[in-house]
Parts: sequence; C-alpha cells; structure tokens
Amino acid sequence: MDQGSTEMMIVMQESASAEDVERILERLETAGAQGHVSTSDLVTVIGVAGERDVIAGLPLEAYPGVDSVVPILKPYKLVSREFRRSDSVITVGGTSLGGGHVGLIAGPCSVETREQLLEAAVAAKNGGATMLRGGAYKPRTSPYAFQGLGVEGLEILAEARELTGLPVVTELMDPRHLDDVVKYADVIQIGARNMQNFLLLSAVGQVDRPVLLKRGLAATIEELLMAAEYVVKEGNSNVILCERGIRTFEVATRNTLDISAVPILKQRSHLPVIVDPSHAAGKVDLVEPLSLAAIAAGADGLMIEMHPTPETALSDGAQSLDPAQFSRVTARIRQIVDWAGKTMG
Ligand code: PEP
Ligand code: MN
Repeated sequence: MDQGSTEMMIVMQESASAEDVERILERLETAGAQGHVSTSDLVTVIGVAGERDVIAGLPLEAYPGVDSVVPILKPYKLVSREFRRSDSVITVGGTSLGGGHVGLIAGPCSVETREQLLEAAVAAKNGGATMLRGGAYKPRTSPYAFQGLGVEGLEILAEARELTGLPVVTELMDPRHLDDVVKYADVIQIGARNMQNFLLLSAVGQVDRPVLLKRGLAATIEELLMAAEYVVKEGNSNVILCERGIRTFEVATRNTLDISAVPILKQRSHLPVIVDPSHAAGKVDLVEPLSLAAIAAGADGLMIEMHPTPETALSDGAQSLDPAQFSRVTARIRQIVDWAGKTMG
C-alpha cells in the first residue's frame, strides 16, 4: 500500500492516553492521511503520512494529549532519530543487536559445501559469533565466477542453525527468491550492489524478517538512509545498516572504510549500525584493527568473513580469517566491547 511520505510527527505528552492517540489516528484517517505509531522512552510519536497540504491544515496541536507537532524536513523520516529517540534493538533467535548489544556475525562469504559451512558454523560459534553468515546467492563481478548454491545453500544454512543455534544471515538478490530466503533465513541481507534496487527493498519491507542493508559502493550516507526508508515504509522497521567500505581513489585497500559513517548514522538514525571490515579492507590483517575501530566509533556490531580453509575459498578468500585468527580477533573485540560498556549479543 502506498502511504505517501511522512510529512510530520506528532509528539504526544507523557500523560497522553491510548484514547488520545486513537482519536488522532481516526482524525487522520478521515482526512485521508495515515499515522504510524511508535512508542519509546515513555513518549509516543505518531508519524503522519499523506498529502502535505491536507495534513498541514489539520488543527492537530489542539487535540488532547498532544505535546508538539513537528514538520519533517529531512528526506528520510521513519528511520530518523527525530522519529524515534531511543536506539532500535533487533532481537533474533535470543540474540540482540543495538542499544548496547553488540552483534558479531561471522561465516564464509559463500556456502560452498555442507562440510565447509558446518565447519565454519561451529568455528563461528566457538569463537563467540552471535549469528552465522553465508551467501547462497552471490553477486559476483564476473558471470563466470561461482554464483552460489541457491536453495541447496539455504538448506545447509538451516542445518547449521540447528547444529549451533546461531541465527542465519544470508543475501537476497532477486524478489523471485524471497519465499525461499524467508523460509530459511533469520535475517535477510541486501548487498551493496542492490542498495538502490528499490523493488527488492520494498519486497523485503513486506516480510517479517530483519533486513541487513549494506551501503552501496558509491552511495552517500543519505542515500543509505533513504534506502532503509524504502524498507521501513512498507512496515518492516527491523533494519540494520551496514558500512562496508566505499570506492575512493585509494588502492591500498579493496574499499575505504568510512568510519565517520558510524557516528553520523547513529546521530541521524535510530537504526542499529554495523561494520563489515572484511569487504572494506579486502585483507585479513586489516580485519582486527578495523573491527576495533568500528566498535570504538560506536558500531552495534560487526560482520566478519571467516572460512575453515581460506586458501580454498570460492570467493573472498584473501579477506577471510581462518578459525584460529577469528578466535584471536574476537578476544580483542570482546575487550573493546567491555571498554565501550556494551555486551556481546
Ligand atoms: C558479502 O557480504 O559477501 C557481499 C557480497 O558483500 P557486499 O554486498 O558488501 O559486497
Ligand atoms: Mn564476500
């Protein structure tokens, strides 16, 4: 359903009752507008979507329980800090991410074989990961490169979840695969190359699974937030933003990790923000320093590629930690998570 963009926010008084909120929602509906209700920090906020002129003409300040009516200037609304002051926390399979909970998503770039993935899953679990990653559909630069196992890969991921208890994160590239991915995955990843695939964003906005949205290779912070807005606007407010490095003139790394994006996204949005140091750096030895920097900068989690035998990996071996390296890096990550006053998972 197209609800138009959110044009203003009605901030309710702490003492406002459910009837006060209901009265406003009914008034909005009769005016052909829609209200999205969000409650946090004792305060209820109603985001109002619809025709700007019609909404502006409603005497909303006059309604009982209303504290203030704030027009929205930013192009993104539902994902903005103004819309929700407290951090959103995303909880899946008993583990949380955001609001003081640090998520650690680890696993291979691609699901290659059952043995490889199950071995990676056990190593991820033993090393302290809170979720398992692995691509069954792979966006490869070359059409001749390994494209992923598809549904077979999803089935293997589900088996790994059974084995370890770790929730599964996997990429969706095509709305035609949505049902299969929803059937097996706990979190749906939208890759950097699809950050502005608007039909895909709207499709994942309509399902009941958190979405891990990666920043595009050449996307601005505002464009990332607008992409998240596409998902949330459809009703799915469980979006995790992921900084994974952007294209710059620098060639010493695969991409340039935009560490500033972490505090900026946290200032502008209530959504959790994680960092993927593996795709940012493209190199194993940079994963630890970039991970520590990310948590120190305020990230709510990390996504790290780890493979039982990186030298045989069908994709991204050069940036994949082996299980021993992963355990060493996670020990350091735990120290900095403690320093930040946060908890793992
Ligand atoms: C991945 O996570 O394996 C991946 C393809 O990442 P990105 O979309 O950030 O390149
Ligand atoms: Mn990869």
